[in-house]
Amino acid sequence: MASHSDLSVVLDAVRAAVRDASALCLAVGDPERMEKMGHEPVTLADYGSQAIILRAATGFPDDRIVAEEGSAHLLAAGGAEAVGEIAGLVGRAVGVPCAPPEVIEWIDRTGGEGGRTWAVDPIDGTRGFLRGDQFAVAVGLLEDGVPVAGVLGCPRFDAAGAAGVMLWGGPGLGAFAEPLDGGEPVAVTVSAVTGPEAARVLGSVESAHGDPALVREVMDRAGLGGGWVRIDSQVKYAAVAAGLAEVYIRPRNRPDWRERIWDHAAGAAIVAGAGGRVTDLDGKDLDFTLGPTLEDNRGVLVTNGAVHDLVLGVLQEG
Ligand code: AMP
Ligand code: MG
Repeated sequence: MASHSDLSVVLDAVRAAVRDASALCLAVGDPERMEKMGHEPVTLADYGSQAIILRAATGFPDDRIVAEEGSAHLLAAGGAEAVGEIAGLVGRAVGVPCAPPEVIEWIDRTGGEGGRTWAVDPIDGTRGFLRGDQFAVAVGLLEDGVPVAGVLGCPRFDAAGAAGVMLWGGPGLGAFAEPLDGGEPVAVTVSAVTGPEAARVLGSVESAHGDPALVREVMDRAGLGGGWVRIDSQVKYAAVAAGLAEVYIRPRNRPDWRERIWDHAAGAAIVAGAGGRVTDLDGKDLDFTLGPTLEDNRGVLVTNGAVHDLVLGVLQEG
């Protein structure tokens, strides 16, 4: 079992990597979309961001890595030219020249057996990234399957007075917003709103990632009156953690869908650190111990805590 000081060392390394990876994403001015059959679209920035984060993970060889991308598709879709381009982007972001073979090695540095896991989504919300909307560079740290810390680079998200922030924190650590262009972290907490009338609701932009009609119905029945805003990625968790919204409802789009751990681990840790609450739509804790998906959970509900039981109650009415 890793000690608390170990966690702070790895968290510092993750924060530095997420900062560099966020810069890389913004440096790719006009990202080209590469289709991954049956999956989300992917861009050179997805691979560059993953290379930077897994490069940082080389400092923690006992840790296990679960990450969304792999080089096989990159090589098939973009070939050596794309890898060379990524090596240039990564080198500029980290300030050290990088060779293409190193980049491939970092991207594929997944697996391992350790009790501590990095759950990495190099660009969460690739569709938002491509649209010019919200996206996040996400790293969740789990110990024996429990999210203990998370870092979300949110280059297009304004919070705590900064344009472009990194949110980080975890249970017992608190939660912080830090300007991506430098500056001190500021402590953030979930909002103090207690009643439903002013509760602001968040959901996915992509209707296929949820059930907008159900969200509307729950809002009506629970009397959630603060409006409904649709944004991409774990920026939704960041917004709840920073007190900018009270509720994020993520119903399943279809019964066989299982959420990916890299889409939730970082956000769940940060919201817990900010004093909020995260469960599935049945009120069950998210179980991150079952592999790359949340096999035993149905949807996700994130709130500031105060309105959680109210929303769960309405969901249970069916
Ligand atoms: P969001 O931007 O909140 O809609 O979430 C983006 C994430 O949704 C991506 O990283 C995907 O892993 C995930 N995703 C893809 N397909 C689905 C689906 N059918 N239902 C829920 N999430 C999905
Ligand atoms: Mg994702």
